[in-house]
Amino acid sequence: MEKLKDIPPLGIYIHVPFCVSKCPYCDFYSIGCAGRSDTREYMDRYTDSVKRELKTFLEKSRTNRVDTVYFGGGTPVLLTDKKIHAITDEIYRLFSVENNAEITMEANPHTALSQQLSSYRSAGINRLSFGLQSANDDELKLLGRLHSAHEAAQCVKAAQKAGFENISLDLMTALPYQTEEKLLNSVKFCSELNVQHISAYILKVEEGTPFYVNDVQAICPDEDRQAQLYLYIVQALKEHGYEQYEISNFASNKKYRARHNVKYWNCDEYIGIGPSAHSFFNGRRMYYPRDLKLFIDGTSPTDDGEGGGWEEYLMLRLRLSDGLDFDALRQLGAEQSDIDRIIKKAQPMQKAGFLKLENDNISLTPEGFLISNSIIAELLF
Ligand code: SF4
Repeated sequence: MEKLKDIPPLGIYIHVPFCVSKCPYCDFYSIGCAGRSDTREYMDRYTDSVKRELKTFLEKSRTNRVDTVYFGGGTPVLLTDKKIHAITDEIYRLFSVENNAEITMEANPHTALSQQLSSYRSAGINRLSFGLQSANDDELKLLGRLHSAHEAAQCVKAAQKAGFENISLDLMTALPYQTEEKLLNSVKFCSELNVQHISAYILKVEEGTPFYVNDVQAICPDEDRQAQLYLYIVQALKEHGYEQYEISNFASNKKYRARHNVKYWNCDEYIGIGPSAHSFFNGRRMYYPRDLKLFIDGTSPTDDGEGGGWEEYLMLRLRLSDGLDFDALRQLGAEQSDIDRIIKKAQPMQKAGFLKLENDNISLTPEGFLISNSIIAELLF
């Protein structure tokens, strides 16, 4: 198939579904490997399957250009540097990866990782996203995390020493018993390590997780308190030099915004490979079942319908602080009457401080981000 030059480069997401053990709050698809004797065999077959799916996508793709790659999960480093190398080699062999591509790998900040850092760099990884979650050891313990704050700091410093100049740390808010002081301690910890990017997620107790079964929700902050903690961390991050550019994401500089994730919110196309991974590809949304065996057996992604309409664009773009221009909605097929209705509905919300309407652009404020789902539903229907 002809590769058209004006088609934007793709992002590639690789979902690595292996963890040492399951964290009690986690709803992502992954398998706890501790104590399993068949892990190595599954990892080999998984790696071959990823290579197979890369080829299948390429055969149907209108472009072979790629400008972001993201290894998420799960715990990608469990695959080992050799298999990560095998996958990046295959991506480079099949696709035309741009020189300045952002290639991210998620990792847990254990000291054991330190020895493999140079090898990941030689596999092309140039951005690390660490699941720190908190710089308070009592909170880490509550979350069932296997690292301490001290260990995490050592790991980040080792990554910087190995030459990684683009590092992100994840934090969690709305944890049981969380105070402003604890959040501030976590923010200071990240800022003192001079990382370029921070994500701050509100803990959600998802059905089916051990947190849900043990009713951890009962000791979590209620909605009002969650809102206070969220607005507090947004402000604290700002004071420490991290600009909010998305509901949960903050960067020390525009150039450190997570380029791969921005594709999702911008309705750009990407390929997602691995059990539970989603794609937006050739105008269609699709996803693999949450089942490693089915993935290995070659089950194709399930079609989830057409994507990229103006309503979907509005929903995703309003997650970004930059918001969206009405012109983009017009180009995607919105009628002037749709835009007039959105503006009319947005005006009282602007007065209440939840959003900004200016120069043909609409964007949410941090207060608006807290209730973004309701705002979007109100604007659309
Ligand atoms: S390490 Fe990450 S992906 Fe794995 S169980 Fe814990 S939170 Fe989930």
